[in-house]
Amino acid sequence: MKALVTGCAGFIGSHITESLLEKGIEVVGIDCFTDYYPRRYKENNLKNAQKNKNFTLFEEDILSLEEFPEVDYIFHQAAQAGVRKSWGSDFSQYTSDNILVTQKLLEYYKNKSIKKFVYASSSSVYGDAGLPMKEDLLLKPVSPYGVTKLAAENLCYLYYKNYGIPTVSLRYFTVYGPRQRPEMAIHLFVKAILGNELITVYGDGKQTRDFTYVSDIVDANLKAAFGDVEGEVFNVGGGTKISVNELIRILEENIGMTANVEYIEKQKGDVNDTLADSNKIRILGWEPSVKIHEGIGNFVKWYKGLG
Ligand code: NAD
Repeated sequence: MKALVTGCAGFIGSHITESLLEKGIEVVGIDCFTDYYPRRYKENNLKNAQKNKNFTLFEEDILSLEEFPEVDYIFHQAAQAGVRKSWGSDFSQYTSDNILVTQKLLEYYKNKSIKKFVYASSSSVYGDAGLPMKEDLLLKPVSPYGVTKLAAENLCYLYYKNYGIPTVSLRYFTVYGPRQRPEMAIHLFVKAILGNELITVYGDGKQTRDFTYVSDIVDANLKAAFGDVEGEVFNVGGGTKISVNELIRILEENIGMTANVEYIEKQKGDVNDTLADSNKIRILGWEPSVKIHEGIGNFVKWYKGLG
């Protein structure tokens, strides 16, 4: 068995890569190490995978490639992530890395016999929809990032419908855990608390997120790939509705230090609240298994080892 993981050097892609390798599956990874955050994090993410002889890395931009490896499974994680950067002239990076890249892969694989194409979608496709967010709600993203993630999700569906590519889209809800991107809240907050620096919260901190631990995201990817399902979209949410202020309290408790917090204006594109209705994905036998206190503990341990 052979799999392609796009964005293999990123936070989530590197965990999926390792998990596949642990199962004895050969992995080809593609990543162009975009400069959204420093390269050293991505090199660190790949350290374990690169010790495995079943792993091959292509450091390439997907848009510059004409050929892709013959594989059974595709885990498409490559993207320009982040809501706040997606305005203005940066939008073209989002249309390239999120929409054009996905279309390029689907075009290439439309006539190949693959077993599954799993796409990393996002809760940001919902915008400020009512809670809990259910797959069949009307989708009205409130950020340019969300628009590109939804466009790519729609591409996956239409290549399934027209060409029979067995796609599955997974809408991840705020993912955290070891290797979380350095500009994401938990990573920033832990760094600030340990370094006695100021935490900047956008808005009043009462906005809530459904936090999902990264090993649960990996598990959902594997179940979507190996399960008997195609042309579908599933939420993947940890099921915990926690405000930013509550999150800071959990971090203070775990680290044993007090946070210094400043509150500034809410950012455009940030949704107020997210909470997944994760009932649909139960048909794949998926359930979140890591609770927030345990997951935060794992992150802090990892962060301290990062040096
Ligand atoms: P990440 O930035 O750590 O990883 C993405 C990787 O893709 C990066 O290493 C980057 O270099 C690579 N990449 C981007 N464009 C590329 C291109 N054109 N060619 C080759 N490689 C390219 O992000 P992440 O947090 O691991 O997110 C992974 C996926 O999950 C993304 O699709 C993201 O939109 C989605 N997602 C993430 C979250 C979250 O909370 N982290 C939530 C919802 C959805």
